[in-house]
Amino acid sequence: MRMPLIAGNWKMNSNGASAVGLATGVAAGASRFGQAEVAVCPPLVYLPAVQTALVGSPVALGAQNLYFEPSGAFTGEVSAAMLVDVGCRYVILGHSERRQFFYETDAVVNRKVLAALSTTLTPIVCVGELLSQREAGQTSDVVRSQLAGSLAGLSEEQIRRIVIAYEPVWAIGTGKVATVDQAEAVHLDLRTALETRYNASVAAAIRILYGGSVKADNASQLLAAPNIDGALVGGASLKVEEFLAIVEAAR
Ligand code: PEP
Repeated sequence: MRMPLIAGNWKMNSNGASAVGLATGVAAGASRFGQAEVAVCPPLVYLPAVQTALVGSPVALGAQNLYFEPSGAFTGEVSAAMLVDVGCRYVILGHSERRQFFYETDAVVNRKVLAALSTTLTPIVCVGELLSQREAGQTSDVVRSQLAGSLAGLSEEQIRRIVIAYEPVWAIGTGKVATVDQAEAVHLDLRTALETRYNASVAAAIRILYGGSVKADNASQLLAAPNIDGALVGGASLKVEEFLAIVEAAR
């Protein structure tokens, strides 16, 4: 059985006080988590404060990015080991906003994934098609190619440590959620690609999250689909009650 994961991607939102308040509120809702695993991914500078707020709670800490080199003259960057040092268990990699605004290619994402795997971090690796690509019937080609490129060279032991997030770009922050059928079809396609490349046991073990305008009122339907193993939540993760309602929908 795959344990559902609900991860909140706070993006470049919050401040010191609101980040701690949000984390404290999510942690206070732990009795509502059921079987679901819950993670919050605040902006980099608030990781230590949020980590402190989460002490003693089952909520995991995640980062939104890392740089693939272990140390050195890379001004403005942080390494995988630094994220572990401040208490991170997860790191989001290959988010479409990083691909779009920071020109991250699959090759760069791959190096970041390998850097994360050289530590105890679990990478949440994002793939997803543009609206134009969906309309051109290219969704499967696009997400399979991103999957292959971002996860190139991973051993079976390494791939088992990955979480994948399918995030159709047209559904991120737009309020346009993929239908359950659209999302489930891509999740199944990704699982099939994993089976072809590795084996059925690997394909059955890996969690594939859905992301793209997940809200309290659409989460139950999405999370009930057989191949949707949780959610990567942007906007709705910034409100404690809305986020906890999504977590409850995963029970
Ligand atoms: C995201 O940024 O990963 C995301 C899914 O955002 P939103 O939920 O706001 O669409």
